[in-house]
Amino acid sequence: MLENPASNEWSGGAVYLAMMALGMGLATRELWLVKPIGSWVNRSLSLAAGVLAAYFLCRWVVYLAEGPDGPVFRTFFSPTVTSVLTLMLLVTVSYSMTALSNEQLINALSERANRDGLTGLLNRRAFMELASREVRRLDSGGSASTLVMADLDQFKTLNDTYGHTAGDAAIQAFSAACTGSVRTIDLVGRYGGEEFVILLSGAEQETGQIVAAEISRVLATAPTPPGVVFPTVSYGVVASTDTGADLALMIEAADAALYEAKAQGRNRVVTANPAKAVKSPGAKSVRGPRS
Ligand code: GH3
Ligand code: MG
Ligand code: MG
Repeated sequence: MLENPASNEWSGGAVYLAMMALGMGLATRELWLVKPIGSWVNRSLSLAAGVLAAYFLCRWVVYLAEGPDGPVFRTFFSPTVTSVLTLMLLVTVSYSMTALSNEQLINALSERANRDGLTGLLNRRAFMELASREVRRLDSGGSASTLVMADLDQFKTLNDTYGHTAGDAAIQAFSAACTGSVRTIDLVGRYGGEEFVILLSGAEQETGQIVAAEISRVLATAPTPPGVVFPTVSYGVVASTDTGADLALMIEAADAALYEAKAQGRNRVVTANPAKAVKSPGAKSVRGPRS
């Protein structure tokens, strides 16, 4: 209205340039603040947007100072120069977008490769990889770690009585009880079927017993599908201080303790080292394996 658009091809130019500078500036900020997914991609996109924002800011200032026919504007900020610059940035952006979507794809695939489909817990391979690294790392810093192995009791009977959907619901409820009872730095994995493993970083055997009892307490109060009773759970607990910081040995010892828990009548926590056993709330019996 004010700048005769019929005769002035630059009508609205000041507003357009200011809005471009502002828009690109905000995009720069957003891209910079985006949670980095472990690469330079969002930063390079942010940089490209920043260059464009700065360019349009200068263009706007020069436009206001000398107008579209001024010598500086015609030399550095003409539509031709702008087209060349935006074309160059477009190359950066399209390359970055391809890299970004590849990265997201790789992240999604590796997430899928490391997680169990039913529970979202680490699968056995991912757990073994992460846990053995963590056990060694803690040991080299002089800290202990504790492994808890869990197996749902008479799970086959639950499947046979209520069906596999109820069995799956019990597995999911147990996995939720596990993740809800440990810290985010601890590792929880589905070892196979209805067997689970938990690595408690920096924890002694006693903590393992307490955590196991807490998981059982949470599972017992979890909502169940109508008419279904969730199973009890047996646990074997071992600390790295008893076996040496070797995950394979810890699993072997926890498995033996778990076997003993089954033999003693299930629904209990058994430790690999009975000398260090504590009476934990909810645990029926806390005795070590005979072997
Ligand atoms: P115990 O107390 O001695 O451990 O007896 P159990 O019945 O729990 O042990 P068993 O090894 O005999 O049975 C495990 C069952 O778990 C058999 C298998 O069909 C079932 N199972 C394994 N994975 C899944 C699953 O993802 N979903 C369901 N619903 N069942 C599963
Ligand atoms: Mg089993
Ligand atoms: Mg079982």
